[in-house]
Amino acid sequence: MSGGADERDAADPLAAYRDRFVGAEQPLVYFDGNSLGRPLKVTGPRLARFVEEEWGGRLIRGWDERWFDLPRTVGDDLGRIVLGAGPGQTAVGDSTTVLLYKLMRSAVAARPGRTELVIDRDNFPTDRYVAAGVAEECGLTLRWIDVDPAAGVTPEQLAAVVGEQTALVVISQVAYRSAWLADVPELTRIAHDAGALVLWDLCHSAGSVPVALDDAGVDLAVGCTYKYLNGGPGSPAFCYVARRHLDSMTQPIWGWMGAVDPFLMGPTYAPAEGIRRFLSGTPPIVGMLAVQDMLELVAEAGMSAVRAKSVALTSYAVEVADEVLAPAGVVLASPRDPAQRGGHVTLNHPLMREVTAILWERDVIPDYRDPHGLRIGLSPLSTSFAEVASGLEMVREVLAGLTA
Ligand SMILES: *Cc1c(COP(=O)(O)O)cnc(C)c1O
Repeated sequence: MSGGADERDAADPLAAYRDRFVGAEQPLVYFDGNSLGRPLKVTGPRLARFVEEEWGGRLIRGWDERWFDLPRTVGDDLGRIVLGAGPGQTAVGDSTTVLLYKLMRSAVAARPGRTELVIDRDNFPTDRYVAAGVAEECGLTLRWIDVDPAAGVTPEQLAAVVGEQTALVVISQVAYRSAWLADVPELTRIAHDAGALVLWDLCHSAGSVPVALDDAGVDLAVGCTYKYLNGGPGSPAFCYVARRHLDSMTQPIWGWMGAVDPFLMGPTYAPAEGIRRFLSGTPPIVGMLAVQDMLELVAEAGMSAVRAKSVALTSYAVEVADEVLAPAGVVLASPRDPAQRGGHVTLNHPLMREVTAILWERDVIPDYRDPHGLRIGLSPLSTSFAEVASGLEMVREVLAGLTA
């Protein structure tokens, strides 16, 4: 087994954060915080208090007192702490899928006469499916970018497909399979040079990779809060709409919560001012509470320290994989250069589907992604170097057992 994990944990300035998560004291190895983050220990008691005091105590008054504004206030906190977004441009609600639909439709409507929507073939399924649905609904053509599944969209590839017909470009900042870290400012500039809008999916970057939406001139972004933001299963997603678009863009799901005066209950819909118009129905308040807890923790640690730990963890995983797994035929399917890699590492081997099933039984929890990829997610604040070492050692053992 590759050495150095204990020394790395001892030298890690963020090591103590791990104890703030439920289950940290157990031997289980969790390599899937990029699919569902662990809960924070403060979240259980906080939810219980919410039920007793706010929901149970304030009852319907809670909406006036605090809940009504939470989609915007939690959105502003998200913007400030993890997205590089000034206030008034981020809102929380719906799911990523629904927000993708709403923002794609908004963008297409804002580029009338343009006939193409650009997306890459290795984008997350929901992004591709929603894009296909919007294209069909609006009579657009999908223009696909073919990418290397062990990498992601490059500036050259994007420049080759955008043009005067492009209405919208949809890309993930961190590719869910390979962890390829896209060049947000450069790709945004290329889309803009063609007169197109760009929608970034931040599901695999928010809370793990620094994002600078305002600085990069991004138009639109969405992301979920249950991966690196530890909001829990089904916690609400977020959307970002750049200030310059807020007055002119509308969205297709006209609900009362996004209307100018929800409690007027008037005969017709008129959109609210600002980012609130991107809401539709009653937002999931309970699902935002755990996100607030995690945002507080990320603010305390600082996004740049979180990224530094993330790079150290993925680099260590690559090093250990090179040493103990490559001899067994395992191939790295993520960028080697940490500057081009997000918070996870994918390792390919023809037997990884079988390996994953056995690992889960042994309390080592990675994810499996076709074709034969073992995805090692390393949530920076809740994962230790010792976990990386023992988890990858278990991968070696299981593979050896299967090929013996
Ligand atoms: C996880 C993920 C989603 C999830 O969408 P939901 O609507 O929350 O199910 C969407 N896009 C990407 C890129 C993801 O990684």
